Amino acid sequence: MSQEWNIRCRGHFCTVCEKPLVDRAPVVSALRDTGEGYERFDCHPECWKTAPRDWEPFSQWDGVYFAPVKEVKKEPLKKEDAGELLRKLITLDDPAMKNVVYVLAVMLERSKILVERDAKQLDDGLIRRVYEDRKNGDTFVILDPRLRLENLGEVQQQVVALLSGTKTLGEVASESDEEPASGASEDETAEPQTT
Ligand SMILES: [Zn+2]
Repeated sequence: MSQEWNIRCRGHFCTVCEKPLVDRAPVVSALRDTGEGYERFDCHPECWKTAPRDWEPFSQWDGVYFAPVKEVKKEPLKKEDAGELLRKLITLDDPAMKNVVYVLAVMLERSKILVERDAKQLDDGLIRRVYEDRKNGDTFVILDPRLRLENLGEVQQQVVALLSGTKTLGEVASESDEEPASGASEDETAEPQTT
């Protein structure tokens, strides 16, 4: 193949019917010499065979189409979505969501999206943790609700449900309202696990 060919990237849609090419399925590729350069065609074999054509390809070959490989992420969280959700929750400033906000922030920290910069105990005895977005430097001040271990799993499920869209913010907030407030507990304060 010459250099000119290499810069004609394979299409991901059939040039004839404009539907997506099928991963690992045969594809017919062709180059048409337009006089000013090569025009590339990638087609379903059927489309190539049946489409009317009043020109002869400069070159034509049969291949197999491979869909682009998506990068597999290790993190259990979708980075952008989780960050957006945290911003939304902080903007809402709903006390019923304080556990969810905290667990989400810790999960983002574990995923190396946020970094904890500071922790301050205020006069009310509660701790505010300062998180910074590693990428854009945004700062979040998050109340540490001193979650009890037995409440942790439930809150993590709420976070996952919000991220996956199976529950709305309103649904989670009303669930959280029914819960007794999580009190501080010296011996079994828990931190969320992301693994
Ligand atoms: Zn087609």
